[in-house]
Amino acid sequence: MYCHQGQPEWIDITVEPHGGIRGRCSQCQRPAPGYDRLPERRWSFVPLWGIPTYFCYAPRRVECSQHGVVVEHIPWSAGKRPMTCAMMGFLARWARRLSWRETAQVFLTSWESVYRSVEWFVQEGLGKRKLEGIESIGVDEIHWGHGSRADNFLTVIYQIDADCRRLLWVGKRRSQATLRRGLKALGPEVVKGLRSVCSDMWKPYLNVLAAEAGQALHVLDRFHITTHLNQAVDQVRRGESTRLQSHDKEAAKRLKHMRWPLLRRGGKVRGHARRKLNALLASKLATARAWELKETFSYFWRYKSVTWAKAFLDCWCYRAMRSRLEPMKKVARMLRTHEELLLNWFRAKGEISNGVVEGLNNKIRVVTRRSYGFRTFDAMEIALYHTLGRLPEPETAHRFC
Ligand SMILES: [Zn+2]
Repeated sequence: MYCHQGQPEWIDITVEPHGGIRGRCSQCQRPAPGYDRLPERRWSFVPLWGIPTYFCYAPRRVECSQHGVVVEHIPWSAGKRPMTCAMMGFLARWARRLSWRETAQVFLTSWESVYRSVEWFVQEGLGKRKLEGIESIGVDEIHWGHGSRADNFLTVIYQIDADCRRLLWVGKRRSQATLRRGLKALGPEVVKGLRSVCSDMWKPYLNVLAAEAGQALHVLDRFHITTHLNQAVDQVRRGESTRLQSHDKEAAKRLKHMRWPLLRRGGKVRGHARRKLNALLASKLATARAWELKETFSYFWRYKSVTWAKAFLDCWCYRAMRSRLEPMKKVARMLRTHEELLLNWFRAKGEISNGVVEGLNNKIRVVTRRSYGFRTFDAMEIALYHTLGRLPEPETAHRFC
């Protein structure tokens, strides 16, 4: 132990090779005759009593009959990394519960070290994960960072089977090429084995999924349809608020504060907000009609039979087209265009449970929005696999957390 002015600074643990046991080749892990010894190296270990701790060891080189003169296999080390596997596993597990910066602070190390540890953890996990038995996937786009350039979007592929929900792949942008790359990464066997896929109405995704996984039932996700409807209601409200500004300031102001009650599901608005909503609905405003259309659409999802669902959809679209509300008409046109995919929701009944994609999306947002200090895509990609990929853990002799 090294002290400075009575305070412990760090602990060095010197490791010596066992005289009677030969070193193993780092390539094939078979015992091999010794060759020479390299200078001493240090690996940081899990802090003991809160004091930074290091392993000190001069690695031997061995002469393997197959691989020639190579460094011996060192059980606590992975490649040239300056940390022991135990330390990397320790930091990586804590990095799931704390932000990377906090992890670095608490365990007296750098952000970079935490990053490298998680990276190692994820690489090991990705190497070992099994992709068999994947029946349904969800494809989605995630906005990231500031602005709306192509680089501010990510494409994610989830597995959404009832027994396993996890992030399978994440890539930059949301183009056809991105999704093609993602499906290629999963491999042709996985893609051919899919029974259902779930996505938004985003054209590039629809095209690629139809071309690559044509055998799977393609379902449009309820969560996305609801989002489109909500956006349309909000557009109507904003437009109307601006129009009212010129002759009825009071009404314009009231409308301005109605954003959240309007976006929530009707049954969930209570108390003061409910009274305001009721007053709005009694008025002859366009926003009220838009809201009413949106609310009515929620009945669509309750149907059991495809035929009746189709009848409802036709009826709803007819009403929306005659509503004289341009944003609602736009949604109706979109739904009509994708009618078959929409109705697949009822054909896939029971296979895709409601809200899975939404749930995974929310978890991703927690990771991307929390200030982890992810300035680069690479760091965030690793963080996403780490928190949502359900990756198998690397084997280590000791677990410290
Ligand atoms: Zn060898």
